[in-house]
Amino acid sequence: LSGKLSGVFEGLSKRGALSEADVTEAMREVRLAMLDADVALPVVREFVSQVRERAVGHEVLDSISPGQAVAKIVNDALIAALGGAGAVPLNLEAVPPVPVLMVGLQGSGKTTTSGKIALRLATRERKRVLLASLDTQRPAAQLQLAQLADQAGLRAQGLVVSLPIVAGQGPVEIARRALDVGRREGYDVVILDTAGRLSIDEALMAEVAEVRKVAQPAETLLVVDAMTGQDAVNTAKAFNEAVGITGVVMSRMDGDARGGAALSMRAITGAPIKLTGSGEKLDALEEFHPERVAGRILGLGDIAGLVERASDTLDQEESERVARKMMAGKFDLDDYASQIRQIGKMGSISSILNMLPGMGKLTQALGGKELDTSILTRHQAIISSMTSKERKTPDIIKASRKKRIAAGSGTTVQDVNKLLKQFDDMSTMMKRINKMGLKGLMRGGGM
Ligand code: GDP
Ligand code: MG
Repeated sequence: LSGKLSGVFEGLSKRGALSEADVTEAMREVRLAMLDADVALPVVREFVSQVRERAVGHEVLDSISPGQAVAKIVNDALIAALGGAGAVPLNLEAVPPVPVLMVGLQGSGKTTTSGKIALRLATRERKRVLLASLDTQRPAAQLQLAQLADQAGLRAQGLVVSLPIVAGQGPVEIARRALDVGRREGYDVVILDTAGRLSIDEALMAEVAEVRKVAQPAETLLVVDAMTGQDAVNTAKAFNEAVGITGVVMSRMDGDARGGAALSMRAITGAPIKLTGSGEKLDALEEFHPERVAGRILGLGDIAGLVERASDTLDQEESERVARKMMAGKFDLDDYASQIRQIGKMGSISSILNMLPGMGKLTQALGGKELDTSILTRHQAIISSMTSKERKTPDIIKASRKKRIAAGSGTTVQDVNKLLKQFDDMSTMMKRINKMGLKGLMRGGGM
């Protein structure tokens, strides 16, 4: 008999749990990878101890190694710690002109990022943006911002403008004037670009805190250089405690930094990372993708490979779960949808069925029809437009439900009928398998 089949059943029956030793071994590697990616030490310690707790005793199929299982748990935990899947957009829900305050150490990329955000808001949302430099110590900083505003304004048909410089005003006065001008001249957003110091100092913090109090920004964005290593903790803590931040921008993600600072920032401030800078040019601004950065942090070849292999195997577990339901005659439309998702990764329903001996006869009973894979994506859309009750008990899907499902999935009632017919054929087949019993099937298959 085929080795394939015995493989499937071995996977079904043998289960185990991760032991303390398995986890300790794997976490040693994770710890090194994180430190190598420049995640701050206290953040690494906390993360590792939390994940260790979660992983010990975790159920795994025999088909994946303990190392793979832990790597997968770590990867998922890291994505969650970085803010979960997907990007968090800027929150500009306020009465215009909406103030946005940029804070951070000198050289972190505040001024450049101010220009990038302005250009993005102007070109993508047709917003009128006023840029104001609050850096009164360095005239060059004010000129730098004015130049960036000119460039952005040129590219966005004049939607971006910088506040004229008035000698002798302090940061708080400039912020007030910027908001005044913003109100009077009908700007949508006012970006306040503060001065930075090379290191954290009390005077700077007091100044920025005062500006925040006066301007009441919708967003206070901490800009951090992605290359920042262990002192990321201190910077984040200091700004969050003294000023309070609502989001983080990681600049210089185009460099060879592995992005560990992102995890440190998120862990210490709790504020979401909203954007990343990927170059000096004005359009080098991107949404933050936790999955990608997680991959970069764990980027040591071994661990990345482990995660990949574990994911493949987990897909296989899902297929096996569905196969079990099939054999128990309890296959429903949710399982069908899950199978469609697996196709291309693991293999189709027919390939799973082909692992069962005696399937040839049953496929013949279906008129020799194979599943048409080209319509599976459409089927997926149709199923996702169904309620969960409809997926569990497709029998209740009559004319009016069909119409609703077709409209919801951008298909026709005919398409819905075809899906239901196909599903019905499959269920009939399952029932036959069930009736014959697994043992009968195996004998029938010539064991
Ligand atoms: P600020 O002192 O915080 O205002 O920092 P700046 O905006 O003046 O940036 C300092 C330097 O970093 C400038 O030379 C920028 O061109 C550069 N820079 C800013 N953001 C990025 C980025 O995302 N990638 C790269 N490669 N350089 C950047
Ligand atoms: Mg600056």
